Order: sequence, then C-alpha cells, then structure tokens
Amino acid sequence: MKAIRVHQTGDPQVMKFEEVPTPEPGPGQVLVKVHAAGVNPVETYIRSGNYGAVNLPYTPGTDAAGEVEKVGEGVTMVKRGDRVYTAGSLTGTYAEFTLCREDQLHPLPDNVTFHQGAGVYIPYATAYRALMQKACARPGENVLIHGASGGVGIAAIQIANSQGMKEAGTAGTERGLKLVQEQGANFVYNHKEEGYLQKAVEEATGGKGFDVIIEMLANVNLDRDLDALAKGGRVVVIGSRGRIEIDPRKTMGKDATILGMTVMNTPEEDAKAIHAALVAGLEEGSLNPVIGKAYPLQDAPEAHKVVMDSGSYGKIILVP
Ligand code: NAP
Repeated sequence: MKAIRVHQTGDPQVMKFEEVPTPEPGPGQVLVKVHAAGVNPVETYIRSGNYGAVNLPYTPGTDAAGEVEKVGEGVTMVKRGDRVYTAGSLTGTYAEFTLCREDQLHPLPDNVTFHQGAGVYIPYATAYRALMQKACARPGENVLIHGASGGVGIAAIQIANSQGMKEAGTAGTERGLKLVQEQGANFVYNHKEEGYLQKAVEEATGGKGFDVIIEMLANVNLDRDLDALAKGGRVVVIGSRGRIEIDPRKTMGKDATILGMTVMNTPEEDAKAIHAALVAGLEEGSLNPVIGKAYPLQDAPEAHKVVMDSGSYGKIILVP
C-alpha cells in the first residue's frame, strides 16, 4: 500500500510518499481501508521533532474514515464493509490502509461522508471534552469560542448550539467569520481587530462576561480572557503556542477557573460518553463536519504547511 512515512523529524518535506507492506490484523485488531484522513496541527508538531521523542520511521495521523477491510481473531464489534471513523490508530492514518484496535473504531452514520468522517475524532472529541466535561457548560450559558473557524472551533460552535448555549465565535478573515456565523454562532468577531473582546462582552453578554471561553491560542489571549469572564467563569485552554504572563488576581474576584486539557488524556469512560454523543449528533445532523480543503495523500507536506497558516476554514483532509 501507499503511505506517508517520516524517517527523520524536520520540515514538511521529511514526509515521503512510499510503498510499504499492508498490515495484517492480529487478535483484536481491524484493518481499515482509508477513504480520507484528517490533518491536525499536532501532527505538524510531532513531525517537526518539537513534541517529545518519536519512534522513527512512522506514518502520521490518528483520524480517518473508511471501511473495515479485514478483522483479526476475536473481533466482534465490527465486520468487513462497515463504515467507521477512527479515534487513534496503531500504524497511522496517512495511508491507504490503517491498522486499529477494535476499540479505536466508531460507526460512521450513513448521512456522513467519508471526507467528513476524517474530521470527527480530534476536532469533535476535543471540543466536546472541553465544553461538556471540563467546563461543564450548561444550556443558556454565554460561551466564547476563541478561534472558531478551524477544526476544533467549528465543532465547538455546533456542539454549543445543539446544547442550547449562546455562543460567540472569533475568526481572522471575512470568509472565516461568515463560516462561523453559518454554523450557528449568535455573534462573530474578528480576533485581528482592536477592541473586539470588549465589544464581544458588551454585545454578546450585555457586559456580564462569558461563562465559558474555549481558547485556541492561550499564549496570545489568556490574560485578556480573564477580563472577559463572568463571575464563576471558566476558560479551557485547548491550544497554546508559547508563553504568556497573566495576572492571577483577575481570577480571584470572579472565582474564575483556568482548565487545561489534552484529548489523549481522556479517561476511557469519558471517551465512551464522548463518542456516543458524537455519533448521535452526527446521525441527527446537529454535528456536521466542514471540510475546507482535500489534498491527495502525496500532498501531505503542502497540507502540513496550510494547516499552520492563518485563515482557517474548517478541516483539511488527505485522500489516498
Ligand atoms: P486550526 O483548524 O488550524 O484552527 C486554528 C484556529 O485558531 C482558527 O480558528 C484560527 O483563526 C484561530 N486563531 C488564530 N489566531 C487567533 C487568535 N489570535 N485568537 C484566537 N484564535 C486564533 O486548528 P484546530 O485543529 O482547530 O486546533 C486549534 C488549536 O488547538 C491548535 O493549536 C491545536 O494544536 C490545538 N488542539 C489541542 C487539542 C488538545 O487536546 N488540547 C486538540 C486539538 C487541537 P483564523 O485562522 O481564522 O485566524
């Protein structure tokens, strides 16, 4: 089969399009024919060598959607031909086939395309965990999705909307703002404009502040987020690409909470709840992944450049 292989960490060009043996599923394992694989920023950090030790060579990727090709001994939850999305993989998803543990697979409803299925796991599981399990956001609360035009942000807007929250979202381009609005955000703001956060607090919350802020770039925004919170407010740090100085005093008067999270740390029971909620939301249509751009698998280096550019527009995927 064809796969993207990384033999040494470095810039996007270290990803090579190669012929490798198709894996054979062992006991409890499933071989999935990949129809599309999701590209997430974390895969660029790992590839660059700035995200801890990596076992080389490897094939990147945890997110894919496709069909079950072959099952190993003892597999009972899926059978050949089933449509699935992956939540992790043993051999990487930037490939024509990926080997998974049975428990890494979830049903992909018929109304969701394979391309959309490649944008489910990391974006939607992260958004759900941040909003529902870390911030414990409730219907009627004011939620700011700070960075709403990308993979996780769009997922967060759709989840908040389906749960009866009042959501505001930010983006850095007109195209991104339009997308965020189309996905159901009640208010949209350009995070490149001077004074946008104060405006958001006034307009979207009547000056009260946000109950929850889902933060995609904490190294830029965290200190100002504390100003934009309501009493009892919670900020969930999903993304951060550097350091920031904050004034801890700002948390005191508001009884504010700063929460960090990494989707990979999700305990098993919480993960089961997340996937049950995601599959239900996909089936009924309240969750509807937006694919901004699809590249052929061999163009993984270009996809890695684009996913780190500003001007996000939903998900970037690779198609074998
Ligand atoms: P993405 O698709 O590239 O989207 C990035 C988002 O950040 C876009 O909406 C972008 O808006 C926005 N942004 C840019 N500058 C901003 C600013 N100054 N203030 C607020 N937002 C800003 O990436 P993603 O997949 O959604 O992931 C978002 C971040 O979360 C990444 O850093 C990623 O590594 C991280 N992440 C963490 C976890 C976890 O488990 N903790 C899981 C998934 C992702 P414009 O491009 O429109 O300016």
